[in-house]
Amino acid sequence: MNLDLNPTDEAFRKEVRAFIAGAMPKQLKGKSRREYEGKSDFLAWHKALYEKGWVAPSWPKEYGGTGWTSTQKYIFSEECAAADTPMTLPFGLAMVGPVIYTFGNEEQKKEHLPKILSGERWWCQGYSEPGSGSDLASLKTTAVREGDHYIVNGQKTWTTLAQYADWIFCLVRTDAKAKQQEGISFLLIDMKTPGVTVRPIITMDGAHEVNEVFLDNVKVPVKNLIGKENEGWTYAKFLLGHERAGIAGVARSKRGVERLKKLAGAEQDGAGKKLIDDPLFARHICELEIDLLSLEFTELRTLARESKGGHGPEASILKIKGTDIQQRLTELTMEAIAYYGNPYQPFAHDKMTNEYVPGPDYSHGASQNYFLTRRTSIYGGSNEIQRNIIAKMVLGL
Ligand SMILES: Cc1cc2nc3c(=O)[nH]c(=O)nc-3n(C[C@H](O)[C@H](O)[C@H](O)COP(=O)(O)OP(=O)(O)OC[C@H]3O[C@@H](n4cnc5c(N)ncnc54)[C@H](O)[C@@H]3O)c2cc1C
Repeated sequence: MNLDLNPTDEAFRKEVRAFIAGAMPKQLKGKSRREYEGKSDFLAWHKALYEKGWVAPSWPKEYGGTGWTSTQKYIFSEECAAADTPMTLPFGLAMVGPVIYTFGNEEQKKEHLPKILSGERWWCQGYSEPGSGSDLASLKTTAVREGDHYIVNGQKTWTTLAQYADWIFCLVRTDAKAKQQEGISFLLIDMKTPGVTVRPIITMDGAHEVNEVFLDNVKVPVKNLIGKENEGWTYAKFLLGHERAGIAGVARSKRGVERLKKLAGAEQDGAGKKLIDDPLFARHICELEIDLLSLEFTELRTLARESKGGHGPEASILKIKGTDIQQRLTELTMEAIAYYGNPYQPFAHDKMTNEYVPGPDYSHGASQNYFLTRRTSIYGGSNEIQRNIIAKMVLGL
C-alpha cells in the first residue's frame, strides 16, 4: 500500500491541522476524560466538528458524512491524535447512527440522524444485562406487543454515560419461544419515558461512568422498532462490528508510543544510564511499534473495505490487537516511572490543587490510566470472545 501523500492530501492535512488549532475547545486542553465536568465538556469538541461539517467522517455523504476518501479519514484521525483532541462519543455517531441509516425507515432517519450529528440527542447502549454479557443472546429484557406499543421490562447494566443520555438503544426479547438469537429485536427508547430508572455504578477510582438501567413497564411506540421484529440480532452484530473497529485507536496509540519514548529518554535505568538505552526496555518499545505498524495496515485495509459496505468479523482482530497495545503502553509507562506510579493522584492535572503531586509531569495520572485501560479488553465484548469469533467466522474452525 502506498502511503505517500499526494499534493491534494497534503493540502488536506494542512487544512485539518489549521482547523484543529483554531477549534480545539480551550476548557478541555490538558484535561483527561475523567476530569470532564458534565455533558457540555463531553460535547464541546463534537459541536466544533459539527459546525465544520466534520463530525461523522465515516457516514455516507447523503446522511451528513464528509465524503472523504479513506486516506483523508486516516489523515483526519492522525491529526486529531497528534493534537490530543478529545474523542467524540461513539454511541450515536459510531453505533446507533450507522444502524439507523442502514436498517431504519425514512421516518427514523429523519427523526434521529440530524440530532445525532448535532449532538442534541445523546445515546447510550442497552445491550449487556446481569448474566448476559459475553453470552449476549441469553438476554432477558422482554418487549411484549400491546396494540401500537411494546411494554418493556428488564434490566441493563454497565451502561456507559447513561446518566446524560436522552435515548437508549436496546436489545429486547420479543419471542421467548424462538431460538435465542431469533427472538431478539432492536428498540429505540426515550429515556424520559415513565419506568426508565438510571442507577450509578461507582467504580473503584471513585468515578461515575457506568450505570444500571431499569426498565419497568416502559411503553415504547412500535414505530421505534428498527427493521423487523425478531431480526434485531443481525442489526446488533452490525453495530458491534462498528464498535469493535472503533476501539482499535491506532492513531492515539502511535502518539502514546512517542510519549513513551520521550519519557524513557528522561528516566534512568537504575544504573545511571537512560532507560531508552536499556536493551530490554528498548526491545519492548520496538515490539510495540512493530505490532502497531501491523495493526495500522490492518486498519487501513478495513477502512478501505468499510467504504464498500461495513465491517466483517475481522473487526475483532482490530479490537484485540488495539486494546492489547493500549494496555502494553500503560504497562511500559508504569515500568518507566517506577515509584511515581504508586500514588493515586486524581487531582494531578487540576491546576488549582493545593495538594503536593510527586513526580515529573509525565508521571501524573499514569497509574489511573493504567487501571482505567484494563477495561478495554472487556468492553465491546471481551477479547476471549473476539478470539472465539475469529476462530469460527474468520478461520472457519
Ligand atoms: C467500562 C465498561 C463499559 C461498558 N459499557 C457498556 C455499555 O455502555 N453498554 C453495554 O451494553 N455494555 C457495556 N459494557 C459491558 C461489556 O460489553 C461486558 O462487560 C462484556 O461483554 C463482558 O461481559 P460480562 O461483564 O458479563 O462478563 P462475562 O460474560 O461474565 O465474562 C467473564 C469472563 O469470562 C470470559 N468468558 C465468558 N464466556 C466465554 C467463552 N465462551 N469463551 C471464553 N471466555 C469466556 C470473559 O472473556 C471474561 O473474561 C461495558 C463494560 C465495561 C467494563
